[in-house]
Amino acid sequence: MTHLPPTDLVVAGLGPAGRALAFRAAAAGLSVTAVDVRPQRRWTATYAAWADELPAWLPDEVVAAHIDSPAAWTTGPHTVDRAYRVLDTTRLQEFLALDEVTVVTGRVRDVDADGVVLGDGRRMPARYVVDARGVPADPGHAQQTAFGLIVDDAIASPALDGHAAWFMDWRRDNGTGPDDVPSFLYAVPAGDGRTIVEETCLVGRPALGLGELERRLHVRLEARGVRTTGDEVVERVRFAVEGAPTAPGVVGFGARGGLMHPATGYAVATALSTADAWSMRCVAARIRTASCGLSAPAPWRPSGRWDCGSCCDSTHAERSSSSTRSSLCRSSSNAPTCPVATMRPAWRPRCGGCSGCCRWTHA
Ligand SMILES: Cc1cc2nc3c(=O)[nH]c(=O)nc-3n(C[C@H](O)[C@H](O)[C@H](O)COP(=O)(O)OP(=O)(O)OC[C@H]3O[C@@H](n4cnc5c(N)ncnc54)[C@H](O)[C@@H]3O)c2cc1C
Repeated sequence: MTHLPPTDLVVAGLGPAGRALAFRAAAAGLSVTAVDVRPQRRWTATYAAWADELPAWLPDEVVAAHIDSPAAWTTGPHTVDRAYRVLDTTRLQEFLALDEVTVVTGRVRDVDADGVVLGDGRRMPARYVVDARGVPADPGHAQQTAFGLIVDDAIASPALDGHAAWFMDWRRDNGTGPDDVPSFLYAVPAGDGRTIVEETCLVGRPALGLGELERRLHVRLEARGVRTTGDEVVERVRFAVEGAPTAPGVVGFGARGGLMHPATGYAVATALSTADAWSMRCVAARIRTASCGLSAPAPWRPSGRWDCGSCCDSTHAERSSSSTRSSLCRSSSNAPTCPVATMRPAWRPRCGGCSGCCRWTHA
């Protein structure tokens, strides 16, 4: 079996979660390999998030529209006093550049604690393994579905009733009655003078079909005086809102790791904002084990295993002599320096204390 060179971190899947993690981990100084069936695939979905869930390192250039107080209609109208951001998907993807990452095109066949195996038999060994392959759109999983049209702001305007955006408008002017499975209108500015109007089934197993949502959207728009032409750009949404199992010793990240918000199905902001915490775990582990002679990547370790957990948290290959083992272990003392302190200032977390990812605190 062919082995690619070992790295600190291998990421399986380069959707928003995998790409964010690979980008941030490389920026923190880790050697990173990432694999995807189509690594250069352009993202087309309109991603949005609450402003306070986005990490401070994300520049404003990746935001397509700012909404200070979106509206919601449950049994009556509400103003949500929480800023909302619609992202410019193309700019987001470009910002999460992979220049410092070894990118491999391939289909992942197996993921285990020592690395990733591709369909063609190549093995990608790594100290840390993250599975960010998303979750297949399988009807056995709970899903969110939506059918949307992207229209000029002026055309969408009657659907908004004077509000900047509808985060969720649950009114029944979509032709449904109290006994029907409900769906809501999501209507937000998408930037460049366009608004996305989307009929959404929040969650279902099975979720409402896209044909039914399209029909409901047209009934609703007609009822509000929105005139469409049939030439609008369409957005079709279907994604799983529950995670999938990962192998022991493998971190599931993004949708794969069940990072979806339970009330919205959103996962992109969580992946962006937790990428640093995972990177820091890898950095800390690398520093802790940097001088330990037994911490070689899996393909180069002798067979047999033991844990030397008192000095580092890796599992190492067995050596015959316990004196060899203890002297090697003594050499892997805990990190003298906080890994955050070794990062370039621009990439350091801004929280001040990083107790979530290591045990040091910072000024
Ligand atoms: C139209 C639309 C609008 C959405 N709007 C929002 C929103 O506003 N906010 C929000 O938070 N979420 C939104 N979502 C959901 C969002 O897409 C998911 O939460 C997000 O994509 C999850 O990211 P991920 O990286 O975890 O997984 P994915 O995006 O599913 O990425 C997985 C990656 O793994 C790769 N892969 C899979 N299997 C293999 C394999 N065997 N080998 C190699 N590579 C593999 C795939 O090619 C893919 O690139 C929307 C979804 C859609 C479709």
